[in-house]
Amino acid sequence: MRLHSLGCRLNEAELEEWAEQFRRAGIQLAADGEGADLVVINTCAVTQEAVRKSRKLLRRAQRDNPRARLIVSGCLAALEAEALAGESGVDLVVSNADKDRLVEIARATLTLPLMPESATAGGAEALFARGRQRAFVKVQDGCRYNCTFCITTRARGEERSRPIAQVVSVIDRLTRQGVREVALTGVHLGGYGHDRGSDLGELIAAVLADTGIERLRLGSLEPWDLPDDFWGLFADSRLMPHLHLPVQSGSDRVLRRMARRCKREAFIELVTAGRAARPELNVTTDVIVGFPGEDEDDWRETLSLVETVGFGHIHAFAYSPRAGTLAATLPGRVDSATKRARSQALQQLAATTRTELLRQQHGSRVEVLCEQAPDPARNLPGQGYTPNYLPVRFTALPDPIDTNALVEVEITDDDGEHLLGQAIRAR
Ligand code: SF4
Repeated sequence: MRLHSLGCRLNEAELEEWAEQFRRAGIQLAADGEGADLVVINTCAVTQEAVRKSRKLLRRAQRDNPRARLIVSGCLAALEAEALAGESGVDLVVSNADKDRLVEIARATLTLPLMPESATAGGAEALFARGRQRAFVKVQDGCRYNCTFCITTRARGEERSRPIAQVVSVIDRLTRQGVREVALTGVHLGGYGHDRGSDLGELIAAVLADTGIERLRLGSLEPWDLPDDFWGLFADSRLMPHLHLPVQSGSDRVLRRMARRCKREAFIELVTAGRAARPELNVTTDVIVGFPGEDEDDWRETLSLVETVGFGHIHAFAYSPRAGTLAATLPGRVDSATKRARSQALQQLAATTRTELLRQQHGSRVEVLCEQAPDPARNLPGQGYTPNYLPVRFTALPDPIDTNALVEVEITDDDGEHLLGQAIRAR
């Protein structure tokens, strides 16, 4: 089989779970260049561009694997189920509501070539075979909010959380199989447990207490609904000091039009509290540029927020109307030239902030999860990420360093994008 995912980390987490469930059913991942009997695509529909990419991926999968059974799921499948089911070459469309049962449904609906489980690779091996070291574990789905630009509430439905014991058991199994870094993901991760009388704090505490996972990350987190004891959890150094907190705008007027639940000052206070708990906390974010009604004053507010917070990375989206959302009906469209100019200004500011952040790391020693082993014969450095999610390139040691090793690296320089350093030891 071959699995493809577009869009958010949650889609990636779902893909990994399907890979593991298919493996248990006796279906292996196809090696590079090998033909596949089954292709699964987890689509995205967050923007019109994501819809276009999902359709393109679908066409390419059909062309490259003409004999394969094709399963389509994800947000595009949820919003355009009938149209996709009618496309030639698509054998099965699985809605977001049924995603957790995708493998079961596929086995019941399609005739899939099976082989005994003992002949297939282990769960973590399936992850490693896809060239990944970090396992994404889905803990929550759906969202109770209605941000006016977001189609996710329609595509993903009501909030539902996985029981703590189940998440702990998945991570414990991955850890025993050799996975050293896990990222918890959800559509509204901060809302974890809302439907079960628990919260994200309880979940994180249980994972840290009851599993041996060495590095725990949190996926994208809306900057509200965080549990009271949230920053206290970061006293455990296994909880990685990086958060992706989508702010979307620095103007309260725009944030109100977006129906966001975290306004400007609350966001700044949140980051300040986080950095008091872990000074090395790296905060990254999403900003929507040119939301309907965004004027010059609003835009200046966004730039000043960006300067105040000092984000490690900014994912800037030029706003484009998404059919089916309230924002698409709002007056005050911002013209393309203005959106382009604002995006450029934001990117310049983001680059300056990032340069500063990279410089601050010079002279420090950090532990990096090796995601690409160094190859001295070909003069290729090792690669991985610091605990606070900055990319690092590092030199080799006299003994080979394997992928998935934890490598202590002394940071000596940067190239504007990556930190550069020397490996000291690996374990
Ligand atoms: S909180 Fe996030 S997922 Fe929920 S509606 Fe807003 S943007 Fe969409």
